[in-house]
Amino acid sequence: MINLSKLLFPGAAGFHGDALRFPEKSADVPPPVIVWHVTDECNLRCRHCYSGRRPGSGPDSKPAMEGAEAFRFLEYLRDNAPSALIMSGGEPMMHPMFFEFADFASRCGLSVALSTNGSMIDDHSSASIFEAGISYVGVSIDGPRDVHDRFRGTRGAFDYSVMGIKRMAARGCRTGLRVTLAKPLLPYLNEIMDAAERLPVSRICFYHFIPSGRGASDPDLIPDTAEERASVTQIIEWAERVGSERTGERRLEVLTVGDASDGVLLFKYLSNRGSDRAEAARTLISRSASRGIGEGILSVRWDGLVFPNQFDWETSLGRWTDLDEIRRRKRQNCGRGSLCVGCEWTSMCGGSLRAGLMGRCSLTE
Ligand code: SF4
Repeated sequence: MINLSKLLFPGAAGFHGDALRFPEKSADVPPPVIVWHVTDECNLRCRHCYSGRRPGSGPDSKPAMEGAEAFRFLEYLRDNAPSALIMSGGEPMMHPMFFEFADFASRCGLSVALSTNGSMIDDHSSASIFEAGISYVGVSIDGPRDVHDRFRGTRGAFDYSVMGIKRMAARGCRTGLRVTLAKPLLPYLNEIMDAAERLPVSRICFYHFIPSGRGASDPDLIPDTAEERASVTQIIEWAERVGSERTGERRLEVLTVGDASDGVLLFKYLSNRGSDRAEAARTLISRSASRGIGEGILSVRWDGLVFPNQFDWETSLGRWTDLDEIRRRKRQNCGRGSLCVGCEWTSMCGGSLRAGLMGRCSLTE
């Protein structure tokens, strides 16, 4: 996760999660964030979904953990304090015990975030989310109304999601947007940025598209490397403008996810302009370089299996009951593959997730 806003303005006040992303020295490396894919069920049919299953479908579809095991898992997290717990899916609110899990997790002292398509946040459920102690709600948006609805396979999905954001913000919850940089959506980046400035959100995360789940069967979703570079540069330019215009409580935090080489791209952006912020950014970028498997993030699937991240469902590391062992294992290379060997930017980048999973780097190609 590359916090463009922090890197563009290294001297500005910190953001929520800075300690996680920019640890001072190796001894301070925080425990991983746990993404718990509570269920694979979903009420939408998004074209780019990294989970992408319908209830009961798919040859490797496994049932979600029973409630008793799920509570034992949360008790384990309580005793082994991850940096945060992100409840994701599928659509996590589809799980009949979602609120009980969230409430229990927050009462255990965990920092609980919700990653949702937003379509199930009505007046009643927004109150329940707030009362369950969920501290952050990230809602996925793909573009303007018609594009979003088409991509999500459901008419009205955009309006429901926007209403969901407004309802959570009105209750005093931190809210943000999640945007996937799939090729057909790149022409709509400006509209998405405009929406982010209008909506009551404090954060926007741009996820690089990594083929997985349903999205793996649609090669038309993959941008070419020039498009990837251009889109990230567009986002950096916007983040710089927004960062200089919106300060204090109005600040908007802009991040990218899935490609650590974006930090290098930002460093080059500042250097090429002769910015006196470039060297401070370089220091921060190096501190946020990709870490080994299990160090920054781990995904726990609905059936209790653990994976390195939410895009790689091929490499099970064990069950959640093996988490101690998974974290104890010798630090592995980030799994970024041979592409990164000898790269001049390795110390700043650490090797990106996409370089490992897709065998490509938009910075060096
Ligand atoms: S080749 Fe690897 S280390 Fe170099 S910039 Fe690309 S992802 Fe990072």
